[in-house]
Amino acid sequence: MQHFPIFLELHGRRALVVGRGDIAARKAGLLREAGAEVTVAAQFSAALLDGCAIAIGADAEEAELLALAAAARAAGIPVNVVDRPALCGFIMPAVIDRAPLTIAVSSGGVAPVLTRLLRARIEAAVPPAFGRLAALAAGFRDTLRRRLPDLAERRRVLERLLTGRAADLVFAGREAEAQAEFAAGIAEGAAAPGMVFLVGAGPGDADLLTLRGLRLLGEADVIVHDRLVGDGVLALARRDAERIYVGKIRAKHCLPQEGINELLIRLARAGRKVVRLKGGDPFIFGRGGEEVEALRAAGIACEVVPGVTAALACAAQELIPLTHRAVARTVTLVTGHTHDGRLDVDFPPLVRARTTLAVYMGIVSLPQLRDGLFAAGMDPATPAALIESGGAPNHRALRGTLDELVAQAQAWTRGGPTLVLIGAAVARGAAHAEAQAAIREPA
Ligand code: SAH
Repeated sequence: MQHFPIFLELHGRRALVVGRGDIAARKAGLLREAGAEVTVAAQFSAALLDGCAIAIGADAEEAELLALAAAARAAGIPVNVVDRPALCGFIMPAVIDRAPLTIAVSSGGVAPVLTRLLRARIEAAVPPAFGRLAALAAGFRDTLRRRLPDLAERRRVLERLLTGRAADLVFAGREAEAQAEFAAGIAEGAAAPGMVFLVGAGPGDADLLTLRGLRLLGEADVIVHDRLVGDGVLALARRDAERIYVGKIRAKHCLPQEGINELLIRLARAGRKVVRLKGGDPFIFGRGGEEVEALRAAGIACEVVPGVTAALACAAQELIPLTHRAVARTVTLVTGHTHDGRLDVDFPPLVRARTTLAVYMGIVSLPQLRDGLFAAGMDPATPAALIESGGAPNHRALRGTLDELVAQAQAWTRGGPTLVLIGAAVARGAAHAEAQAAIREPA
């Protein structure tokens, strides 16, 4: 950390601005907004620093600025000289004012343009009404303390209120209703039941997460996740959220499905906001359906947030159009998962003209898949591809016929999640990929 960030209490305190012109006036204005009694002087004299809590220099003679910096430093008064880092005891951040909420951004003085860009983004992301929400919550502070003396419980209730309907009402400008909602929420207290959100984490890279998934990750008390969820996605979770890993590695279940269901129910019953984070989409070969059934049977509210499933991410990665007017009129998602070594796939309906097959969990059973498809009449020349870690930075692809893929798969795989795509559309992707390579590296 380059600097130590703090917020100064300046109400009724004296502040000195040495300089003239717009910048000095702006600094004086900011200090006044923070409640300081500001003296602006064109020239520095040591007496001006008496009793000051802070001093700023801007647009004055060099000698004045040097004297100000030296005297303030000697007196232990924080000093800033605009655009002169060497003379500064503190630096001014870019400020986003959502009083009583204040957001300050700094690059330690190294990248002011970046800081400004970031400020603009934060301005856009934090609605002006956020300040009103903070003020509303502040108004209930004493009530909250009295009703919910336990700190952890109070935090939980407050978080629920600040991310729930009361907050939506504030943002919509319906303050009176928001007040009522807030009061009711406090009365309900920690007894309010928790909820489970089944969130699709997408294929790997954090920027393929949905905005709704991102918001819920920032709000959840507990994150229950499995192996396919990328670290980048997990890093977006609230810092102090509890993380529980229930990963599965092919047949080696870390926690059996019934155990996961029970865990989710128990956490929700304890009043917690639970995000069950699953790779890809929760309802595509993710056993999300079983979890929803278990939760509903236990009377626990749940919501599902879709995610980008592997087939979509892998196809996009390789420029393979899953449907294409000329070559693919349907897409079928199938699982190559085996039970006791046997593949439970009904092959004949899969072998149709103009279709794309996306096989999940198919790398181990690839030889059986090929045999089944060929026996059902698939043309052995049908183009196919293995795509490993699609949608993640370390993605790779291997193209060929199914025979070629079967022969090379074991040596080729690096152990990441792998999808098999089969159909004429795969050849379109190959053509695009070649053309693209040619554009990037002209002969
Ligand atoms: N719910 C997930 C799928 C879970 S099943 C989804 O919607 O994507 C696990 C299988 O999905 C893996 O064996 C692999 O076949 C596939 N898979 C998941 N993520 C993948 C990725 N990033 N790249 C390739 N295949 C992936």
